[in-house]
Amino acid sequence: MRMILLGAPGAGKGTQANLICEKYNIPHLSTGDIFRMNISTCTPLGVQAKKYIDKGQLVPDDLTIQVVEDRLVREDCKDGFLLDGFPRTVFQAEELAKFLQSINNTLDVVLLIDVPTGFILERNIGRRICSSCGSSYHIKFNPPEELGICDFCSGKLIQRNDDNEETVKERLNVYTTQTHPLIDYYKTNHFLSTVDGRDDILTVSKNIFLILDN
Ligand code: ADP
Ligand code: AMP
Repeated sequence: MRMILLGAPGAGKGTQANLICEKYNIPHLSTGDIFRMNISTCTPLGVQAKKYIDKGQLVPDDLTIQVVEDRLVREDCKDGFLLDGFPRTVFQAEELAKFLQSINNTLDVVLLIDVPTGFILERNIGRRICSSCGSSYHIKFNPPEELGICDFCSGKLIQRNDDNEETVKERLNVYTTQTHPLIDYYKTNHFLSTVDGRDDILTVSKNIFLILDN
């Protein structure tokens, strides 16, 4: 299965991506995770990306598209993948379509996790991620078993640099102006499935699996 998860920042893409990728045994390609990994290891890509990410802005298309194309040609993506956080602009979506066509692939599923903007601030500000494996928690909606410690790898939980009120508001602006138009793009160029992202994590995943199993 080759799929894209769309949704506002904090809609639950990363959380659901982990559950989907485990069930369908496909790699999880999160551009945000790739950038954060590069930032933590101080690569040239990380140094570039950090300038934009810390301000809540998008990393330029050319850098981002290259990252994704380099990842998609790897062996583990041969039979499927889940893209989380990419595309984020119509240009990225057009480039992805061209790239997939060039390697004789197409998308099977484009799925929107739909949450009203009123949910976004609390979801992002309460988020904690594992500094080691990247797993995402929420202080209220999805707390770890032990405070500050990752359930999966015992790594230390931290708050993302861009999960503060000012930056989340900017990320929401960026989403509205640059990423939201993808909903119409995929409605026109593909079939777009939608789940209600206001429900709790397990209900959302149950509804996603109903769509994917059909
Ligand atoms: P995204 O990848 O779309 O930015 P995440 O999956 O990281 O979003 O989720 C953002 C925050 O909201 C995290 O703290 C996560 O634990 C929490 N969260 C995810 N899905 C839900 C949900 N359905 N209900 C409540 N909180 C959720
Ligand atoms: P995320 O982890 O998906 O919330 O992404 C965190 C940040 O990484 C975003 O706010 C952007 O600055 C950057 N980023 C992630 N994916 C993309 C993308 N497809 N295009 C541009 N910037 C991106």
